[in-house]
Order: sequence, then C-alpha cells, then structure tokens
Amino acid sequence: MKIFDKAFRVMQQLEQHGHEAYLVGGAVRDFLIGKTVGDLDIATSALPEQVMEVFDKVIPIGIEHGTVLVRYEKESFEITTFRTEGTYSDHRHPDSVHFVTDITADLARRDYTVNAIAMNRDEELVDPFDGRGAITNEKLVTVGKAFDRFEEDPLRMMRGVRFVSQLGYKLDHDARKVMEEQRLWLKRIAIERVAVEMEKLCGGSHVKKAVELLVDTKLWEAMPIFCDHPELMDELSQDIKPLGSLAEWVALCSLKSGRPVMDWVKEWKLSNAIKQDALNLVNIMHSKLDAWSVYQLPGHLDASYIRLMEICKHTEVLDELSSFRTQLPIRGSSELSISGKDLISWFPDRKKGSWIRDLLLACEKAVVENKVKNDRIQLKEWIMHEYDA
Ligand code: ATP
Ligand code: MG
Repeated sequence: MKIFDKAFRVMQQLEQHGHEAYLVGGAVRDFLIGKTVGDLDIATSALPEQVMEVFDKVIPIGIEHGTVLVRYEKESFEITTFRTEGTYSDHRHPDSVHFVTDITADLARRDYTVNAIAMNRDEELVDPFDGRGAITNEKLVTVGKAFDRFEEDPLRMMRGVRFVSQLGYKLDHDARKVMEEQRLWLKRIAIERVAVEMEKLCGGSHVKKAVELLVDTKLWEAMPIFCDHPELMDELSQDIKPLGSLAEWVALCSLKSGRPVMDWVKEWKLSNAIKQDALNLVNIMHSKLDAWSVYQLPGHLDASYIRLMEICKHTEVLDELSSFRTQLPIRGSSELSISGKDLISWFPDRKKGSWIRDLLLACEKAVVENKVKNDRIQLKEWIMHEYDA
C-alpha cells in the first residue's frame, strides 16, 4: 500500500482532529482494477475551514465547492468536504452545494458506480452502489437513473465514453439508451470541458471501442465540426489506435475531414501549444519526407507522426524518419554557427531588414540538406558564392 502511505497519513491527521476521511474517486477505482493510480482525492467530513486549520500549507482552490488543496511532504492532495449537490438549472454547475456528514450521501452524487467507492485507512471500502460488482462485470453503471444523472450534468455522457476508452468496460444498457436519445444535451456543456474528456478518451487503450460508441449513440452530433461531417466519426473508428495527445487527434481529424487545424482550434477552444503541434503534424503528413521536413518537425512529435502514419497506413517511411533525424547536422536554428550579427558584419553596407532572416533561413536549409558544413568560414564562402554578394 506504499502508493497510499502519504494519503493515509493526511487522512490520519484529519481523524486526529475528530473528522472522518476517505480516499475516493479514480484512485480507489484504479487501485481495485490494478491500474496505475493517478491523483489522490480525499473526501472528509471536515468543513473547508476545519481542513485549513489542520494543515500548514493549504490552497483554497474551490472553496465554494468544498475543495482545498493541501501540500503535504512535497505532494498535493485535493481534500473535499462530503457534499451533495442541489439542482442543476444551468446544466453546468449545481445551484447549491450542501455539505453533509455522511460519506454515503457524498458517494451518491458521483457519476458512475466504479467512481463511487470510498476507502479508509484500513483499506476498508464503503461501496453502497456495488461499484466492486461493476468492476467484476466490467460495466459502467450510473449512480441512480441515467436519465436524471445525464440531465443534471450532460458531461457525464462524455465521461462515460472516456471511461469506456480507458477501462474497456461496457456502458450499461440504460445509460447507452439515454445517451443516444438525449445526445444533444451535451451541447449545453462548455466545449473546454468536453475537450478535457476527449483528450483522455484519445489516449485510452480501448479508444476504438469508445469511438465506435460515439458513432453508435451519435453523440458526435453534439460536437462542433463533427456535426457538420456525418461520416467523419465513423471513418475515424475504422483505424483509430491509442493516441499520445489531443494534438494528434486534431491532426487526424483535420486530415480526414479536410477542415483546417485552425477551425478545430477555434471551435474546440484549444490551446496554442495544441495548435502548434497539430499544425506541425499536418504539415509533415502533407510533405515529402526529407532532411528539411524532418528538421522542421519538433523532435517531440516523432512518435505522434509515426502513429498517424500507421493509422493512415503509410508505414513505409518510418525507418526513413529516424535515419533523417539521426543524420541531421543541426537540430535547430540555435545550433547554426552563424547569426544575424555575422551577416550584418559581412555586409556593412546593407540596410538592416528582412534579408537577414531570409538569408539565415537559406543557410539553415543548406546546412540541413548537407549542401554546406555548419562552419562559420564555409558558410561565409557559400553565401558569397551563392548570392554573388
Ligand atoms: P482520473 O483518473 O482521470 O482523474 P477520476 O474518476 O478521478 O478520473 P475526476 O475528474 O478526477 O475523475 O473526478 C474525481 C471523482 O469525482 C470521480 O471519480 C467521480 O466520483 C467524481 N466526479 C467527477 N466529475 C463528475 C461529474 N461530472 N459528475 C459526477 N461525479 C463526478
Ligand atoms: Mg481524478
């Protein structure tokens, strides 16, 4: 139980102050399944102010929902007060949060039974909805009626598909039926939150199963861009494999739909980092593989590129990629042995301008393509000769 040692000590501190404390959520689920455990969430009967009295380093990250972040021996733990949720009139946030003293009431607000198991310091489980049974049967069952729970918070539909992808479990019949019938509820959810689930979905070992579920339930009809391309999700489901990032997914979707990466970034409100990676990936997918195109692809995207090529069934270039990569004379412009300053000193009569950037780029390309060595003197000679300066 080494993974939980520290969390158990955090819980012990709460108990010593007269409160109850349990490990909850994904950590308990993944531990029972035997998967690598992610972040450790703790639920407690202590009110947020009381949690803040127990620990020295506390950051109130979501105090209105009862959550505080505790730093304990260089690790972070989210500690949330037992709570129930009121109605969701905006279908996004509960109108009110009620703190309660009973762990069972807290577990009842959770989405799927596998996520509604609590564990105390003695590794005893509180499992009022038979989450363990669901694990044994590899089933995703909603806590309570699927219709009510999805209506309260439609993101739970997307989370269900995400768990199918990560766990390979089957979505319970009832949940699947409601998902299909009420799929457009998902439109009420901020797209950023859907994107978070999509990212986890893409990386799941059972992503094919999940994408097939999106096709079968037509949940894609509630998603930007997919709703304009009725065949797209089905086409993706044919050859999809677990991906390494959302950028890979965006690149793949862009390639298959013909819609520019920028459309995906805008409509799904994605970050700049994702945009850059996706643009680079689509670029190289459209290029002939040579030293220059490999040089322009940031090295951290090699694995993504290989996966995309496999999915698109272009496996012939994979050896070439690594051979180009290892033979590149430089890995980036910072390794070029000349700079803009050199060019200015070699051409003192020229006015500063964009020629400097253009010439540096030409040098970079010539070095990458082995037309000239990355050596100051040789580059100078090459420039004088090539540009007749
Ligand atoms: P992960 O391993 O990806 O962190 P997780 O199950 O821990 O998965 P979180 O988003 O971290 O997912 O949420 C922690 C717990 O909070 C869940 O296990 C679930 O019990 C509850 N939860 C999260 N989101 C919802 C939701 N939209 N509706 C109901 N319960 C939720
Ligand atoms: Mg979690």
